[in-house]
Amino acid sequence: MSDSEAETLLLPTGCPLCEKAEHLRRCSGCRILQYCGQDHQRQHWPEHKSACNGVRQARKSVEASKQALINNPVFKDDDPFVNHIGNFWKIRETRPYMTEMSKFSQKIRMIRHADAVQAELDTYMEILRLCPGDNMGVRGSVPGALLRLNRDQDCYDFIKWYETLDWNSDYVTNFLNIKNADVFEPVDFVRKNFGLTQRVCLILLKIKLLIEILKLQNMDGYLDQAKADYQANGDKEAPPPELLNAYLKEHRNKAITSQALRARDDLVNGQELSNQIDTLKKQIDELYDIIDEQNKHMWPAMSNPEEALNRGPAGAFMLGSDEEMRITLNETILAWLETPGAIQFINFKIHGRLDELL
Ligand SMILES: [Zn+2]
Ligand SMILES: [Zn+2]
Repeated sequence: MSDSEAETLLLPTGCPLCEKAEHLRRCSGCRILQYCGQDHQRQHWPEHKSACNGVRQARKSVEASKQALINNPVFKDDDPFVNHIGNFWKIRETRPYMTEMSKFSQKIRMIRHADAVQAELDTYMEILRLCPGDNMGVRGSVPGALLRLNRDQDCYDFIKWYETLDWNSDYVTNFLNIKNADVFEPVDFVRKNFGLTQRVCLILLKIKLLIEILKLQNMDGYLDQAKADYQANGDKEAPPPELLNAYLKEHRNKAITSQALRARDDLVNGQELSNQIDTLKKQIDELYDIIDEQNKHMWPAMSNPEEALNRGPAGAFMLGSDEEMRITLNETILAWLETPGAIQFINFKIHGRLDELL
């Protein structure tokens, strides 16, 4: 998979210039990015200025419309943020606030940084909490943001909630009611012609799991390294197996970023890997075909995403259309690029050459 490392973009964390993670001070403009000190903030300003100002203005508009909503005579002695959660948008007076929240999330998207993805996600989740029926159409943006933050278990739970929700049900009670579902379970819960973005994120999630499990499987070299390290420390005897196992486990944990895998001791310890590899391969094939059937433009576009993205934003769309593909690509492309090996994997799959890679 090493060829693909060059294609991978890493999502920046910490100070945008030096990635330092401690003793940071937040930018007072956007209140999102954090810097190690004034020097780096000043150096980063020319690049950050426009996005920072955009976020600051949008946040002001959110705050103003929130105040206007609370002060609206319709809500005299009746706080909408206490008494009407779940019914926003249905109550007409809440719409300007919801619209400003949606604009705010678009402005945050202009900043490519883990703290910005988190802020963007928080905004979507607040929109959904207030209006779980999602008249604003933000749920397509949630799974990609979760994947970018390596929260693949939460991403899986979200997708499963969305795909299996009974649309006649009580949204408020059933909001995000799926927790820690099995990421290896069959994919037969996905519905026909429904939520292309969710499916594309689901296949990306499975690809990420497969890539990381393959990494775990190929860690025998670490065992030799461990023996060499002990001998370098002056130990003539072979190190005891429990020490070697602890060493291996530490390296396995470092090698993976997946939240779902890290929670599985058996897999981190190298058990059951080949079973899960077979399961994932089969599920990836199934999802690939489901997506291809749903939108025939999707996979051809993935082999040259820039071309499709350069054709500009798409507005209203029909199911299966080129516009639907472009919206989905736009929602998910950063999650693809920021997952090491994923773009290479899907290209080999598109060209029927996966056997060469695996
Ligand atoms: Zn710095
Ligand atoms: Zn800022």
